[in-house]
Amino acid sequence: MTDLDTLRDALIRFRDERNWQQFHTLKNLIVSVSLEASELLELTQWKTDEELVQLKADESFRQQLKDECADVLMYLLLVANEAGIDLAAATREKMARNAQRYPVEASYGLARKYMERERKDGQS
Ligand SMILES: [Mg+2]
Repeated sequence: MTDLDTLRDALIRFRDERNWQQFHTLKNLIVSVSLEASELLELTQWKTDEELVQLKADESFRQQLKDECADVLMYLLLVANEAGIDLAAATREKMARNAQRYPVEASYGLARKYMERERKDGQS
């Protein structure tokens, strides 16, 4: 049992106590992840990177950041649950694939993505 499993189980309990499962279709949950991610993004609207560095120390901003991060994670846990996905295992698998796609020697300090690197290096 991972920490993610414990959080998921608490969320399901919270949901079922309120009879909200009927609203939690896979589509509605995926939409909700995107909406909450947009609320997280909204916290950066009109702010520069430098302003955000300052805001990380602001209690009110930190609280908003914490709340939106939690909202995204909660809906993501519910999406994975509804789809029968072990989120911790899926994340480990994806990280292993990323490590293969972006070997340190070819990616160190570079922001470009895999496909862009393939084109630039003349491979296909
Ligand atoms: Mg929110």
